[in-house]
Amino acid sequence: RKIGYAIVGLGSYATRQIMPNFAGCEHARIVALVSGTPAKLDSYGAEYGIPKTHRYSYADFDRIRDNPDIDAVYIILPNSLHAEYAIRAAQAGKHVMCEKPMATSVADCQAMIAASRKAGKKLMIGYRSRFEPYNRLAIDLVRGGHVGPTRLITAEHGFPIKPDQWRLDKPLSGGGSMMDIGIYSLNAARYLTGEEPVEVTAVESTDRADPRFRTVEDRISFLLRFPSGVIADCISSYSTGHNSYRIHGTQGWIGMEPATPYAGQSMTIRKNGVTAPRTPPAPAKNQFAAQLDHLAECILTDKTPIVPGEEGLADMRVIEAIYQSAAQGRSVRIGA
Ligand code: NAD
Repeated sequence: RKIGYAIVGLGSYATRQIMPNFAGCEHARIVALVSGTPAKLDSYGAEYGIPKTHRYSYADFDRIRDNPDIDAVYIILPNSLHAEYAIRAAQAGKHVMCEKPMATSVADCQAMIAASRKAGKKLMIGYRSRFEPYNRLAIDLVRGGHVGPTRLITAEHGFPIKPDQWRLDKPLSGGGSMMDIGIYSLNAARYLTGEEPVEVTAVESTDRADPRFRTVEDRISFLLRFPSGVIADCISSYSTGHNSYRIHGTQGWIGMEPATPYAGQSMTIRKNGVTAPRTPPAPAKNQFAAQLDHLAECILTDKTPIVPGEEGLADMRVIEAIYQSAAQGRSVRIGA
């Protein structure tokens, strides 16, 4: 049996990246669409063969409860709407896949986890890099000590943001570059070490005269200190382009640039004075299909996803500490 997904929000990421990749899935299929725009329901409904009975508006959303074809709901809305729809989906008896950032506060993440738990349903966050072969290889190499014990990580993510979009409107985005793209630097530092940071020091710089940055931040540089002593030096930016990380061990480094795009990752390793590229075996499925299939397999075999709600909550705890550190001009301890 294939798990049936309802796609909530027919914007750019949903229609260009997620929906086309169901074609490569073994265990997942699209069965329903949710949108506030009737013309999108018509055109994507026709394209994906979704009958009119399986097309919903936001006002109708709770009726998904009565549709047994829908096993899971994939929430691909502006960030501040994730919590509401994840909770309503759980209350309708559905499993949830939710885009990153999971929500815009620790409290909302906790409420989402509680709702899924109460409903006895799965909750997974769309951290697609965990299903991407270069990032998986990087994790294996780093944790296996390929370049010696890790001492430092650098991670940089950013892009020059275009004006006039919900990402620049704090009530919808919850914040600026950190919520959107900086989270990739943070998440990578956490998945590469397999540790939770205990302290963060952040510096923010934003030109408030730039009309893009009236309500959200532009650049944040943040340092994470991990229990093992690893330091991660991370960049988040809405005005400069970055997509890389490098793990420095005592015998060399493992570099990824680009590290987390939709395709085209590249890895270089320097070990004992020799620098060489490294390529993982070609995957059977791309990261999008693998992510969609992972939740489906977890539902079919009653397992916990490798990126459950707790993973989104862990990032959000650090993001709140990063904002606090930047605002107060001091280091902030996490989990103390
Ligand atoms: P988008 O603007 O292209 O799409 C958002 C959709 O939400 C639009 O169709 C819009 O009509 C709809 N919407 C519903 N209610 C809305 C409201 N009140 N205000 C504004 N829009 C509303 O955005 P996107 O790039 O598709 O991002 C959606 C989510 O996906 C975000 O959480 C984003 O962080 C995430 N995302 C993840 C990745 C990834 O690689 N994992 C990539 C892009 C986006």
